[in-house]
Amino acid sequence: MPTKKQTPNNYILIIFDSCRYDAFIRAAPKTIRKLGKVEKRWSYASWTAPSHYNFLMGLMPHRSPKHVYASEYYKKEFLKFNERLGVDDFEFKSLVPKLYLPHFLRDKMGYHTHAKVSLPVLNPRTVINQGFDSFKLMEKHNDMRAMVRELKFYKNKPSFYILNVGETHYPYALPDEPPNEWPRISGVHGVFKHLDDQVVGGKLVKQKQEKFFDDKKLRQLKKRQIDAVRYLDNVVEELFDAVPENTYITITADHGELFGEEGYFGHGPIMHEKVFEVPFVEGKLR
Ligand SMILES: [Zn+2]
Repeated sequence: MPTKKQTPNNYILIIFDSCRYDAFIRAAPKTIRKLGKVEKRWSYASWTAPSHYNFLMGLMPHRSPKHVYASEYYKKEFLKFNERLGVDDFEFKSLVPKLYLPHFLRDKMGYHTHAKVSLPVLNPRTVINQGFDSFKLMEKHNDMRAMVRELKFYKNKPSFYILNVGETHYPYALPDEPPNEWPRISGVHGVFKHLDDQVVGGKLVKQKQEKFFDDKKLRQLKKRQIDAVRYLDNVVEELFDAVPENTYITITADHGELFGEEGYFGHGPIMHEKVFEVPFVEGKLR
């Protein structure tokens, strides 16, 4: 029997910037887990910009599958958008030729498309701004609650949001923590306008005058990221209360973070498995 064509789901893709998998698991977020089983997945890139481009092509962090061709894996992964959007005819070629999700959702599916980002490296003047009705760099780099308050949904027109959330990014500060209490890296005091320029990461090199993080400091930093996830779990609860019924939500990270393993801190120019390990969970609440 033919069924009445329903409005597609609202779709919200939430990126906890720099949140590594084990920090997420240690935080044991109760609300977020209502979406489904938390998987360990791997980011395609070790830092923010390429990783977000990948998301916007429709490719979520991967499962590192063995004995399959990449093209087969992509095809299968793209079919998941049928569940996310609540449609039945989405496939990889739906994105041709631009291969860009915001264009597809806005121009072919009639979505409102919005990006709210925390990290200046994704600012609205960058080329990833394509296909969005609005693209906003938030006032503070660490206030997901401010994003949740700005979300709007409509009855007959679905919305797509990508939210790049900064609380989990260095310095892992919650919005009410005064900047003068944030942990500091030598040489980059107070430079948060250009967060990713300055603090992408790298190998900790001991220099004569500059003292880099010691083990105790690195443990504190990791704990701060775990605490940030716990805090975000409460903000996600507010989000769950705010979204309409037909809303599908994905929560993941753009890359992990190093907290001193093998001499590395941060993310970016790092070849270490912890910089690729990310949490991945998605589903529809009701
Ligand atoms: Zn990032």
